[in-house]
Amino acid sequence: MYINRISDEYKRVFSCKVYKLAIDGGFSCPNRDGTCGVGGCTFCSSQGSGEFAARGTDISEQIEKAKMLVAQKAKSAKFIAYFQSFSNTYAPKEILKVKFEQASKRSDIAALCIATRPDCLPEDTLELLSDINRDKPVYIELGLQTIHEATARAINRGYPIDAYDRAVDELKKRNIYTVTHMIIGLPGETEEMIYETARYIGESGVQGIKLHSLYILSDAAIKEDYYEGKVKVLSMDEYIRLLAGCIERLPESLVIHRLTGDPPKAKLIAPRWSADKKRVLNSINRYLSDNDVTQGSRLQIFQI
Ligand code: SF4
Repeated sequence: MYINRISDEYKRVFSCKVYKLAIDGGFSCPNRDGTCGVGGCTFCSSQGSGEFAARGTDISEQIEKAKMLVAQKAKSAKFIAYFQSFSNTYAPKEILKVKFEQASKRSDIAALCIATRPDCLPEDTLELLSDINRDKPVYIELGLQTIHEATARAINRGYPIDAYDRAVDELKKRNIYTVTHMIIGLPGETEEMIYETARYIGESGVQGIKLHSLYILSDAAIKEDYYEGKVKVLSMDEYIRLLAGCIERLPESLVIHRLTGDPPKAKLIAPRWSADKKRVLNSINRYLSDNDVTQGSRLQIFQI
């Protein structure tokens, strides 16, 4: 069994335990305000998937609050400021600079992690990220979810696949570490479609991937289709089997940042199994070990 896990990479890069402090930069999303769409991605919550982020206007204050939550177990740890809610590069460069530097200039922050959309990375923002990246590592997270246009339309993602390709190329040119989000079990997707997305991400030139199952939240648009029976969720066993299939199709060098989601329990409608992250992770690890799942083992490499 071999899985390239983020915990190992953090140990290599930072030489100690690392905690991510989820903060809310106060941004919105162009897929909600009408710029490229309204209503947002159908699976996204009213808080832009940032339920665990600290709240407040001041970034430093939020970092202090978030640190207090992990203070006991994090005595000799390092911290990553995680701009998680909504699209965290969706603002003019001047505003982004102030917010990001409030985090990056702190001595207790070892790196920034910034979640955003591929179509929210104009040239001046890329240059800003590149400048910060020279001082401290910057991890950019891109919410791709699927490579299939029909699914992208069904979930109202609001950008085409070439926006992802362009963003990855631009980030790669600037040596910025990029992590792609993928959802397993999106409406209408077959097993083969899921594996095609995993392969595509693996070949796209990013350094990391985050995987989780589709889950239905009480304030997400997709709940209507779920209640009407138009959308189904995976069982835990189905999810784990598909997850293992994806891992086998990812290159060994790609770092896996997440093997399952962490939905907010108070809002979770389905699947209920996904609420117990510890149990899910134990089941995943058991399956991967029992079946000797090896990252990259189903990647075909054609050589002349
Ligand atoms: S998932 Fe991201 S891109 Fe989609 S609506 Fe939510 S914040 Fe916007």
